[in-house]
Amino acid sequence: MHPKLEKVLQETAHRNPGEPEFLQALTEVLISLDPIIERHPEYADYGLLERLTEPERQIIFRVPWVDDNGDVQVNRGYRVEFNSALGPYKGGLRFHKSVNRNIIKFLGFEQIFKNALTNQGIGGGKGGSDFDPHGKSDNEVMLFCQSFMTELYRHIGDKTDVPAGDIGVGGREIGYLFGQYKRLTGVHEAGVLTGKGLGWGGSLVRTEATGYGQVMFARFMAEDRGESLEGLTCAVSGSGNVAIYAIEKAQQLGAKPVTCSDSDGWVYDKEGIDLDLLKEIKEHRRGRVSDYAAQRPSAEFHDSGRVWAVPVDVALPAATQNEIDENDARTLVKNGCKYVAEGANMPSTPQAIEVFQSAPDVSYAPGKAANAGGVGTSAFEMEQNASRSRWSFEYAEERLEAMMREIHNDCLATAEEYGKPGDYVYGANITGFRRVADAMLAHGVI
Ligand code: NDP
Repeated sequence: MHPKLEKVLQETAHRNPGEPEFLQALTEVLISLDPIIERHPEYADYGLLERLTEPERQIIFRVPWVDDNGDVQVNRGYRVEFNSALGPYKGGLRFHKSVNRNIIKFLGFEQIFKNALTNQGIGGGKGGSDFDPHGKSDNEVMLFCQSFMTELYRHIGDKTDVPAGDIGVGGREIGYLFGQYKRLTGVHEAGVLTGKGLGWGGSLVRTEATGYGQVMFARFMAEDRGESLEGLTCAVSGSGNVAIYAIEKAQQLGAKPVTCSDSDGWVYDKEGIDLDLLKEIKEHRRGRVSDYAAQRPSAEFHDSGRVWAVPVDVALPAATQNEIDENDARTLVKNGCKYVAEGANMPSTPQAIEVFQSAPDVSYAPGKAANAGGVGTSAFEMEQNASRSRWSFEYAEERLEAMMREIHNDCLATAEEYGKPGDYVYGANITGFRRVADAMLAHGVI
């Protein structure tokens, strides 16, 4: 590794103790910058790498709320505004009991490069809370969201920082957050949040965008090898927003997703996932994948292990970070898996990535490229809000597909340019970095 990259990595590790996922995300990016720093040493000047690895602003706040029993609960809220070189900070809010500063920083750091890849003029940020929405009533979720926004509202705006959803934050939560923002500011500022309801500023295809984009990316990888997804079996993890629409798009393209999961276990359905049933259970009843298996004779439920044990052609992780370890990756490769397109953020451990990258028959797309359709369509939502227009489903999906194709092609072109043909990791990291770094150099030392 270039000595400058090594130094930045060591200093960042020293300055951020106890933040393993942040350092994991950082290491993966910095390692892949070696060829560009060798060729363009100016990117290592002006403290650029030191500034890139330090968030511009980190906000941590108390979120008190009253539960249905009348007891006071206290959670912690976060917003990390990582980098605004390309535009307003943009990135989702995650509500999950595992959320801490380390998790939000890893997500915010990834978001910088992902957003740059979309070419939509958006900077990188992320936020959330250790609030666990599981088992909470609608009233409790509303009171939590209102309290969370009562602090967050002073830091966000359609030209400064535009949050959206992530794990645990879907249409219901965005609705409560938007309502409170409007109440506190007295302004109907549609572009301050994305993932809004269709009747009040949301965009068609935003709900579907991340999963659809993930599978489109897998399709482009297959086409690049002269193949298609038709007839291929897929393992999908998760059963939330990204997983459901990855399954939908895979089915539309003639592939057969046979798994899904949640934090209680996973399902193998030999007939292929019945999407109507899964949507009914997950989107309407807020149920579990075990309920799906109980209602579907062709499906079996497993409360241990992971979906990656099932022999498939395509792996579509769509749950959470580090959900594919080295053994899982080896099992996938041994069973003949040819395509891995990440819908979740950093779902593969570094060892798993190494297994995929060194398998000659596997095309591997990192999350920051393959799941960029979500944030890209959020930028389309902002565009519609700013122009007070409303796109059709067909047009929004066309735009999404064009964007995913461009990201795919940019990754391959950059990988080729830097002597790593076919390597989507180098391609994504260097393409994103170059765009952000050029803007940062132009803006001076700030
Ligand atoms: P949802 O909350 O809708 O769904 C998350 C799914 O993953 C649920 O099935 C959940 O199960 C499961 N899951 C979450 N955490 C864990 C865990 N620790 N162990 C096992 N299962 C888990 O979230 P999304 O679908 O929106 O997000 C999924 C992934 O995609 C995340 O990594 C997110 O960062 C990424 N992503 C999302 C985007 C979006 O537009 N929504 C955009 C880009 C990336 P359970 O219900 O049991 O918790």
